[in-house]
Amino acid sequence: MQENEKKQVVVTVTGRDVPGIMSGLTEILSRDGVKLLDMEQAVTHGWLSLSMVIRFEGSDISDTLVLKDLLFKAKELGVNLDFKVVEGEAQVRSTAHQFAITLMSEDLQARHVAAISAVLARRAVNIDSIRKLNEGGLACLELITYTSSDIDVGALKDELLKVASVFSQLDIAVQRENLYRRAKRLVVMDMDSTLIQIEVIDELAKLAGVGEQVREITERAMSGHMDFDESLKQRVRLLHGFPESEMKALAERLPLMPGAEVLVKTLKRLGYKIALISGGFSYFGEKLKDKLGLHYVYTNNLEIEEGRVTGNIKGSIVNAQRKADLLEMIAQQEGVSLESVIAIGDGANDILMLKKAGLGIAFNAKRKTREAASAAINQKTLASILYLLGITDKDIEEVAR
Ligand SMILES: [Mg+2]
Repeated sequence: MQENEKKQVVVTVTGRDVPGIMSGLTEILSRDGVKLLDMEQAVTHGWLSLSMVIRFEGSDISDTLVLKDLLFKAKELGVNLDFKVVEGEAQVRSTAHQFAITLMSEDLQARHVAAISAVLARRAVNIDSIRKLNEGGLACLELITYTSSDIDVGALKDELLKVASVFSQLDIAVQRENLYRRAKRLVVMDMDSTLIQIEVIDELAKLAGVGEQVREITERAMSGHMDFDESLKQRVRLLHGFPESEMKALAERLPLMPGAEVLVKTLKRLGYKIALISGGFSYFGEKLKDKLGLHYVYTNNLEIEEGRVTGNIKGSIVNAQRKADLLEMIAQQEGVSLESVIAIGDGANDILMLKKAGLGIAFNAKRKTREAASAAINQKTLASILYLLGITDKDIEEVAR
């Protein structure tokens, strides 16, 4: 056979998965003159989908006989086998054009996938593989996609997010698929409304009888309509005279965000360092550090004298800039590149920190924060962040053992 006569054949096998399919078929392909170039397999609900690329390159091999034997073997195994002779060499893809697209919803439907894949088709983005990351009903899919040329990732992302916004509770994250996506090493989290369900300062204010005044200021600060430092000072001033004993009691009953423990525990077992950087107060940050075994905590310090809050803040204020600076400092200390940092937050004062991290996640966040982040998640549980790293429910279970 001449070089230019070498045949490349794509073989696809589908059917109910039973033991022996792979060995039966590859035994036939083991003959001299047949070269296996590529293979991929997936089993969904017990149904197999296997594809292989082979090339006939020996002079003493009859390609017709091999293909006939494959068909015969498939019949014997009770599966369908199809083949197609293709022109040219197997494609080699650059990871520069690969993207991981994660779809999340409590009840993921075909119409979600249809809407997303229509965008991909329009932009000539191919889907290479699809994986379900959750257990039980369909709630999270990871699509690994590729394009044959450079595309405007920002525009693709914007369009996908626009499509997603039509559906309630559908989240889509687009990330470059490369080594860095999975090789994250440090997670930096906000505290109030991120790691815990409440805004501590609002709770303190309620207990102090200045709830309404403080809540209004918090709202303005968190939506980015008021300077954070000034708003914090104003609010803390209103807490003047609040007893430390009541702070202690509140610290004991901080409601964690659903999934907080799973997220922290899983990432810690996988070797991540976890930092809490909060514009909230040390009293509560330290409590969470102990409870969850966090590695770093940076917060604001309420001045307390004779068992009561004075209304002043001790030391420099942890604001948006300080949060971003601290993220960078911890990354340096841990010898981790910014690309390998995940930041999670919900407020306007998290924006700089989210932008600095390789993966900045807006969690149930305000609009401004969502727009600044590389991914926005509006799910009930913090554990859904693990899906963005390609971590499956099975992985989580295994790590918990
Ligand atoms: Mg917050």
